[in-house]
Amino acid sequence: MKKLILVIILVFGYQSLLLQGQADYSAYVNPLVGTDSRYDLSNGNTYPAIALPWGMNFWTPQTNEDNKNGWIYQYDADQLNGFRQTHQPSPWIRDYGAFALFPVTGEPQFDNEGRASWFSHKTETVRPNYYEVYLADHDTWVEITPTERAARFRITYPAAREAYLVIDGFENSYLHVLPGEKRIVGYTRQNSGGVPENFRNYFVIEADTEFEVHSLYANGKEKSGVTEVESGRSGAIIRFKTGDDNKVNLEVASSFISHEQAALNLEREIGSRGFDEIREAGKAAWNRELGRIAVEGGSDAQFTTFYTALYRTLLFPRKFFEFDRQGKIVHYSPYNGKIEDGYMFTDNGFWDTFRAVFPFFTLMYPDLNTRIMRGLANTYRESGWLPEWASPGHRDCMIGSNSAINIADAYLKGIPNPEIEILYEAILKNSKYQGPVSSVGRFGVDYYNELGYIPYDVGVKENTARTLEYAFADYNIWKLAEKLGRPQEEIDMFRERSMYYVNVFDTTVNFMRGKNEDGTFQSPFRADKWGDAFTEGCSWHWTWCVFHDPAGLMDLMGGKEPFVQKLDSVFVAAPTYDFSYYGFRIHEITEMLIAGMGQYAHGNQPIQHMPYLYNYAGVPWKTQAHVREIMDRLYTPLPDGLCGDEDNGQTSAWYVFSAMGMYPVAPGTGEYALGSPIFKKVTLKLENGNTFVIGAPFNSSENVYIRDAKLNGKRYTKNYLEHTAIMEGGELELRMSPRPNMERGTGEEDLPYSTSQ
Ligand code: CA
Repeated sequence: MKKLILVIILVFGYQSLLLQGQADYSAYVNPLVGTDSRYDLSNGNTYPAIALPWGMNFWTPQTNEDNKNGWIYQYDADQLNGFRQTHQPSPWIRDYGAFALFPVTGEPQFDNEGRASWFSHKTETVRPNYYEVYLADHDTWVEITPTERAARFRITYPAAREAYLVIDGFENSYLHVLPGEKRIVGYTRQNSGGVPENFRNYFVIEADTEFEVHSLYANGKEKSGVTEVESGRSGAIIRFKTGDDNKVNLEVASSFISHEQAALNLEREIGSRGFDEIREAGKAAWNRELGRIAVEGGSDAQFTTFYTALYRTLLFPRKFFEFDRQGKIVHYSPYNGKIEDGYMFTDNGFWDTFRAVFPFFTLMYPDLNTRIMRGLANTYRESGWLPEWASPGHRDCMIGSNSAINIADAYLKGIPNPEIEILYEAILKNSKYQGPVSSVGRFGVDYYNELGYIPYDVGVKENTARTLEYAFADYNIWKLAEKLGRPQEEIDMFRERSMYYVNVFDTTVNFMRGKNEDGTFQSPFRADKWGDAFTEGCSWHWTWCVFHDPAGLMDLMGGKEPFVQKLDSVFVAAPTYDFSYYGFRIHEITEMLIAGMGQYAHGNQPIQHMPYLYNYAGVPWKTQAHVREIMDRLYTPLPDGLCGDEDNGQTSAWYVFSAMGMYPVAPGTGEYALGSPIFKKVTLKLENGNTFVIGAPFNSSENVYIRDAKLNGKRYTKNYLEHTAIMEGGELELRMSPRPNMERGTGEEDLPYSTSQ
């Protein structure tokens, strides 16, 4: 009998490995999730990024007519007018270095409206590494498959019509059409800020079919008798001599360095490889990354939601570096405009991504994390500051000092960082000075360092939010300073500052609140007033931003009971709001309202960790119930499947972690608070070769509560997992139940980390 069981296990185990080895995880990804969005309602505010993980260039079909607005592709649009190389991290930040190609037939027109074609999602295939669509008005099929810095196009024109291609350089561009070489070269200086004067995205397009110039455009107007244009919006229409063969293949590559480098990128990444080869390689690249986490025991919809979220988590930050002819890593500096050695990454708002995206990289992609750290050090060398919202250079957006958190969290988790000394120097600088824009350095830092908070009435906007974020950054600096063996005085100073959150808590209302310079609180107080003392949220959301010390927050609120009551009330409080600070109802407010969860606003980042805080009060079953409800209600595999701005992977990384049953509430502590996984089995294939399994065999939509847990076979009562335990490999077994176990996870020793404990 024992032998039989062993045989069954062996056969079963082997089969499941085999299945995992062959699995096409990329087939579960739906890049259209989140694209049913618009200015006043974000169901994700995404576009279908056809790209490789962290690729330097993304491609997207384009529906917007002005080439400019941030909503490049909207799911409910009927017409396409471009296939665009894009670098846009968010519609609010806008694009840079963008240009578009578009095949047309019949009487060709250059302008977006004239060249546009109707299309249908029924004749559209969207994979991370492959896009295909039928352009009805041109009777033409277009296929795109990308590499990191290049792409191949396969265009199938109708045999009976003249075959044209529109090249639109967008504003501030240059084009040179070279029919003899079957080549077009150009550059675009298009940007939305954050670039030096000499910024250019150089591109090269090579065709396998002879063509002639049909027309060129300067400032968007036709110009005859030339093959070269450089004035405002440059464009061209070429006519292919397709003969009997109606297929045209294009190879496109670009570089932020030079035309020569663009040609080199084309040679390195496409070379002699055909469309299908590039497509297969792209699929393999995605499966290599997506396949690090294998999930089993869920519905197809859950698999799609999970791997789509993982795809979004693996797009940013963008690789902004290239390889020269000798294979050396080089980059155009978006800070000083020079060509520099080494790594550079960009397109990331750390305000969003310090929460779960960077912790996710520390867990699953430590090598990448080391490279990103090298890039951060280069940013400091080239600009004198750490980035907070880079796209591609410093942008004045959001608040905080969150680069410190990313750096400290990774280093404290033992990820090699050869640049830690210079990065620490940069962190210290941030803790003392304001930067060139308000998002860089610490805006209001003198007040913070002297008074212990940034006053409401001294002209520093979003002051209480800043105080809270600086305090959490200071917790991370404190821990990093300890690890680096810094002077005790310095360590103590940051420890002390990490407690400054206390200064903006008003015990008379039990909320975080704006505080004037004279020590009185801002008045009148409304907990539902968005913005003002806070950032894109109200006190209902920001009161919980004490990531490193929920126990301290609990004490301020009067203990466990009022703390839990307040957490409960977030979900049931009337969804009132005051938008007077903005003067109109910002989309984040609408997204909170339509979710129907009281004051809980999962569509924006400040509160996303809050459902996990029940763990800190010894009532983990409340976390388990709420996170399952949020996953079920607010994440779907459909175009309207997100509940607010996706934001460079953050809202997706929340799901990836939560679907696995945990969340990094406080980067820097090395802990993941436990939630409730949605899958029966999750296997993490770690970079160090170890495997960590989260098993929940009796999981179901009813069995959302953890009745019992075992870690590596031993009873486990804690409400958190330690990073080190995961890295060692092993198994967390969860016995799920439809009823909460109010005995488990209630002891003091079961609670996750708090500074005050
Ligand atoms: Ca946001």
